[in-house]
Amino acid sequence: MPDPRPQFVGRPTLLLQDSHEVLPRLQTLTREYSDLEAATQVYRALMPVLESDGWQAPPLAITPAQARRKLAQGIPILQGEDLPLPEGAARRLMVRLAQALDSLPGGLDHESRRGSGPRHVQHLLEQRKLKAVSVLQHAGVGDHDGLQALAQARQIDADLLGLLAQYTLAPSLRSWARQLEPMVGPVEWTQSRCYICGAEVLLGELQGGTGERHLRCGRCGADWSFPLPGCVFCGNQADTFSRLYPPDRRQEQRVEVCDVCRRYLKVVTTFEPSSPDCLFVLDLATLHLDTIAQARGYTPPSAGQIVQPHPGRDL
Ligand SMILES: [Zn+2]
Ligand SMILES: [Zn+2]
Repeated sequence: MPDPRPQFVGRPTLLLQDSHEVLPRLQTLTREYSDLEAATQVYRALMPVLESDGWQAPPLAITPAQARRKLAQGIPILQGEDLPLPEGAARRLMVRLAQALDSLPGGLDHESRRGSGPRHVQHLLEQRKLKAVSVLQHAGVGDHDGLQALAQARQIDADLLGLLAQYTLAPSLRSWARQLEPMVGPVEWTQSRCYICGAEVLLGELQGGTGERHLRCGRCGADWSFPLPGCVFCGNQADTFSRLYPPDRRQEQRVEVCDVCRRYLKVVTTFEPSSPDCLFVLDLATLHLDTIAQARGYTPPSAGQIVQPHPGRDL
């Protein structure tokens, strides 16, 4: 089974709006699969912070024409944009998230005891020895080496820093997606990376009565139709592209695998688009599909390069 802990790369992030819907589903899942307890523990610690904080960055200064022009050129809308991420607000949220992680029973793995855990991050942020926006900048562009170097230089656990960055950045990404989706309307976008934030697809959904294939972004929650057949990553339509089903042959779930690019996509029948928050649950509930594909040597969608934030005004 894949590591069920929330990962910096490829896992959807926070849940802001549908906790009343998500929590019962999580509880059911963890009763059924005890291995998921660790994955949901972090969520349950961070969700109240995100709900009570409510901070999200201001809207982007971009016109509908500019957004549509970028899409026509195959460029995700946020790519290359100056993102208004103020240091003060980002720092406050990241500190509160670190405090919540520190309060987890037993801490977050062993980092706390090594002095590289949440309390250490909180201290560095409060002492202005670590800029929150610098962290978000590395995380935002998928610069894992940069994030690792930043973490190493300050003796922070790199996975922890990535997790904090992901959750700090996510409310703003969701907010920008809500701003941009109605602005551009239905899009023709035949890439596996998100047309809004540029992150790689999380999973596919078969929506509506016709089971039209849509792709979903786990970071900003975007939803885009993908009408082309075959592999969403490389376009392969030959018999080297195939569909695998769970052993019980449940047709509502499958994993699409490609022998050309060796990547896989989980696809579930949902009829209605899942709310962005429920993508987290859907991803956890289909870890058996990850197992099926990874056991055969296929690799999951990875986080693609997304946006380049800029420091903005310190609050
Ligand atoms: Zn996205
Ligand atoms: Zn492929």
